[in-house]
This record gives sequence, structure tokens and C-alpha cells, in this order.
Amino acid sequence: MILSAFVVAVSGGNPPEDLRTWAIHDPARPRPPAVDPGPAGPSVPAPAGAAVLFDGRDLSRWTAIGGGPAGWKVENGFMEVVKGTGSIRTREEFGDCRLHVEWAAPAEVRGSGQGRGNSGVFLMDRYEIQILDGWENPTYADGMAAAVYGQYPPLVDACRRPGEWQTYDIVFRAPRFDASGGLLSPARMTVFHNGILVQDDVPLTGPTAHKARPPYAVHPEKQPLSLQDHGHPVRFRNIWIRPPS
Ligand code: MG
Repeated sequence: MILSAFVVAVSGGNPPEDLRTWAIHDPARPRPPAVDPGPAGPSVPAPAGAAVLFDGRDLSRWTAIGGGPAGWKVENGFMEVVKGTGSIRTREEFGDCRLHVEWAAPAEVRGSGQGRGNSGVFLMDRYEIQILDGWENPTYADGMAAAVYGQYPPLVDACRRPGEWQTYDIVFRAPRFDASGGLLSPARMTVFHNGILVQDDVPLTGPTAHKARPPYAVHPEKQPLSLQDHGHPVRFRNIWIRPPS
């Protein structure tokens, strides 16, 4: 039942063969070419109907993932991960959405691979678009910036340099479950990184995870959006969300 729904649903977008061919985090999986996205522009204004989740002033719409106040730093119009304070999540819950996020990897380069400028945007607390300082920083393809972590590398590497502002524009379709918890249709994501298409309506195999591709587990129609504390001082500004259409 689950398999047949998935096969039907994956008929569009990136070829599902990718996920049968490549083991998770396979170092031999080809990395897409780099494309210069051009210079960073000003913040993208929230359109009508959007909820502004972070406007550069405070974390009032966010909590620590374990409850209590969000522990990240807010200054000069951005928020910054404070190592060890934990990931943060929105108070409000969302299902299908169109999401805009601006982020910047630390200007001071430290570490390499997954250990450099790592964070992430988690739709519904469980489906991650990877954030990573990908500038001249090779890592496994399904862990690059703008990868659906552990599943789909981006179509191109559209990273800017560390310290420069970057944008993710995400269209997310939540998975659908039947009354008994069976999967009717998988989650799907379309992502633009710095204005360049990097995920084209890909069907997710389930929640994203490290060294695993776990199956779907039924969850409510709406869940919080979360941002990852991976121990690196990644910055965020101007986050807004609206219905997908
Ligand atoms: Mg991450």
C-alpha cells in the first residue's frame, strides 16, 4: 500500500532511480556543478497574505525545541545560532506552504564538510532542507546546501561565499495519510536557492535523517517549522511563510 502510493507519486520531478542507485550519503554520488547566482540583493519583502516569522527584531514567534524561550542571539536585524541552546521552532504550525528564508554562513571559515556552516530548515519539524557553507567545501552530494538531506542533492550548487546572504524559496506539500495512518501521498518539495531552481517537486521517501531513510510515520496535518542548531553560528533574517497558492 505504501509502496504503490509512492511509486505513483514519484512519476514527476527528479527521477526516483536516484534513490535506488545511491546509498545514503554515498561519497561516489556525483555532485552537481556550481552556478554563480550573482550578488546578494536586499531582503525580499513579504507579500500580502504572508506571516512574517522573523523580521529581525525578536524571537517572539519561536521557542526552543524542547520548550521555553528560544536561546539564539538577535542583533543588527538577524538571529544567530548559539551553540548548545538547541534548535528552535515556530509557535504556530503549518502544513502545505510557500516559505522564504534568508541565511548566511559564518564569515569566518572554520571546519570542513558537514562541520562548516551547518544548519537546516525543517518543514513540519522533520523534513530538512540542508543549510551548509558549500563554498569550495566538498561534502557528500545528499548533504550539500539545498539538498533534501540524505535524499536529493540540489540540481546545481548555487552557494554564495561565507558571510554573504543567501535565499531559500521553498514550496512544500505535506504528506497525506489515510484514517489508518497509511501513506496516501508523500511530502514534496520545490526549492530555489538564490533564485535558481535546485529541487524540482521531489517526492520525499520519509523524514530526513543522518545515515538513514526512515519510512513515513503518521503525523498531524500541521506541525511547527524548525531551524537547526548544529553548533555553528549561522545567521537568519527575513523569514516569511504563506499558503502555497
Ligand atoms: Mg543540517
